[in-house]
Amino acid sequence: MGFLQLNVLNQPEPLPAVGIDLGTTNSLVAIWENGRPNVVRPEGDNGYVPSCVFFPTDGPPIVGKEARERAVFEPERTIFSIKRFMGRGLADVAADLKSMPFPASSGRNGVIEFDVRGRKLTPQEISALVLEKCGEVAARASGGRALAKAVITVPAYFDDAQRQATRDAARLAGIEVLRIVNEPTAASLAYGLDQKKQGNVAVYDLGGGTFDVSILAIEDGVFRVLATNGDTHLGGDDFDRMLVAVASTELSHSVDPRKLDEPAFLQGLRLAAEKCKIELSSYPEAEMHIQIPDSNAQWRRRFTREEFEALSRPLIERTLDSCRRALSDSKLDASQIDEVVLVGGVTRMPAVRAAVEQFFGRVPHTQLNPDEVVALGAAVQAHVLSGGTREVLLMDVTPLSLGLETVGGAMAKIILRNATIPCQATEGFTTYVDNQTAIDFNVLQGERELASDTRSLGRFRLSGIPPMPAGLARIAVRFHIDANGLLTVTAKEQSTGASAHIEVQPQNGLSEADVQRMLAAAYANAKDDFAARRVAELETELGTMLRATEKGLVDARSQLDRETILDIEDAMKSAREACSTRDAQVLQRARDAFEKATMPLAAVLMDNFAKKALTGKIIGEM
Ligand code: AMP
Repeated sequence: MGFLQLNVLNQPEPLPAVGIDLGTTNSLVAIWENGRPNVVRPEGDNGYVPSCVFFPTDGPPIVGKEARERAVFEPERTIFSIKRFMGRGLADVAADLKSMPFPASSGRNGVIEFDVRGRKLTPQEISALVLEKCGEVAARASGGRALAKAVITVPAYFDDAQRQATRDAARLAGIEVLRIVNEPTAASLAYGLDQKKQGNVAVYDLGGGTFDVSILAIEDGVFRVLATNGDTHLGGDDFDRMLVAVASTELSHSVDPRKLDEPAFLQGLRLAAEKCKIELSSYPEAEMHIQIPDSNAQWRRRFTREEFEALSRPLIERTLDSCRRALSDSKLDASQIDEVVLVGGVTRMPAVRAAVEQFFGRVPHTQLNPDEVVALGAAVQAHVLSGGTREVLLMDVTPLSLGLETVGGAMAKIILRNATIPCQATEGFTTYVDNQTAIDFNVLQGERELASDTRSLGRFRLSGIPPMPAGLARIAVRFHIDANGLLTVTAKEQSTGASAHIEVQPQNGLSEADVQRMLAAAYANAKDDFAARRVAELETELGTMLRATEKGLVDARSQLDRETILDIEDAMKSAREACSTRDAQVLQRARDAFEKATMPLAAVLMDNFAKKALTGKIIGEM
């Protein structure tokens, strides 16, 4: 008995640390197994989690593949691309907000809040739903093992607030973040480029909706981002649109244009275009076809690869312009790039590969699946950080410089961008007016010279400075970034030892109290969500029982006594009433009473069924 109980109580061990590519369109989990990283896939599933959340009118949000399917018919209830909003303020993302189905406002500390049916949800919370789904997929693939620790990737250009927002999302999803790693670094790791002593790497990442190019320098296993460039609104979708445009023009000759604008038809057209585009990566010709609205006919059109390449040439050119700018920012020319890595599904297009190869003058790495290479690299890093044997020295670098606002409104940089963390630096400051007893510090992040052009990470005040003439006080300000990327700034007056410090919470970020409140709300909602699911299940169950009983009474009424029939009819009435209450307890009671009342009916029906089955059979057949 004791042994059995033990078995029941024993949860399976959590998974070893995984890598998560938390993408704009798709997210993916990978794990180190048998000496290499592998994508985590449940049986019969490719493991991809569309970063997409659907909010039904009732019940808990639906995430991932199911959400993307529902979105086709109800885009007004679906959030895509939440990554664009992570750690940003309303003003930063005004253009992207237009495509959001829910109104947004600015909450505490500048965090964006979407009003989803009266519930305020931050990007962090929505992203946490995607991460939870990743955890569910990983559990399904591993016999129920929980996803507890992860390395999560972010674009190289993400600033502190965006990185912190990603960490917070993970925390809300119950995941411990071992490290936040740049996506291009992860892709390079997947190809083992960390093993190089020295070299420059270009990572060209053309995904579903965004394009990024990063130039990295490797030195003894440490990756530094020399430059990033890209276009947050250029991706595979734009290539699809080229084909959609041809189709729309040709269809408009024969079909009512209003029909062509219907969302379901447009979505169908986009899917047909994407399918054709993908086929053209493997075949010299492909057909695009779609059902014409209100007709039995199909529209069909063959595209050759050359034709499609001509249509998409301007898009490819735009990516090369970004590559040119990134090279120029990194003060390198193409001949100084030693390795080129391709990331993102669109890099399967032969024309894209050829253009990149020609631009950088070398054959890019393409052996790994470009949609999975970031997650695979994150898994390599997770393995290393959890004590794996691969000999790499991996470090993060600060993405942007950190400093303080000076009296004139300039930014005094104290830790320069690309400093390897953990790190610290100290700078001396003094008072500006006679008998000044306090100084206000404004901690800044950014590369620009004027404080007003940088991002303020937080302010704090050092008081208790003894009165003395201006310029005599000696105040040491120390910036310290720990291995987890948390910045602490301490100011200390040297003669009295008076000190003040601040642990920096970035703007547009969540405070510790916010995170705690959201966690509590998530638990509270989990209860509501659970109750809503239970109500739905009980209603369905009662509905099935009611239908079966109605039919059963027609068949077997004459075999039941009057009292039983009355009991059953009473129970049916209570069950119908319970279905309008939406109260799980009432429903449960009605269900139990219903089951009890219908037991004699069930017995009679079973009996009749058995008799019928046996009629005409001889013993030997049984
Ligand atoms: P990602 O965000 O990296 O998953 O990229 C997805 C994008 O890659 C979508 O626009 C896909 O249509 C596109 N894609 C996937 N496979 C191919 C292919 N074989 N050829 C061209 N584009 C592709």
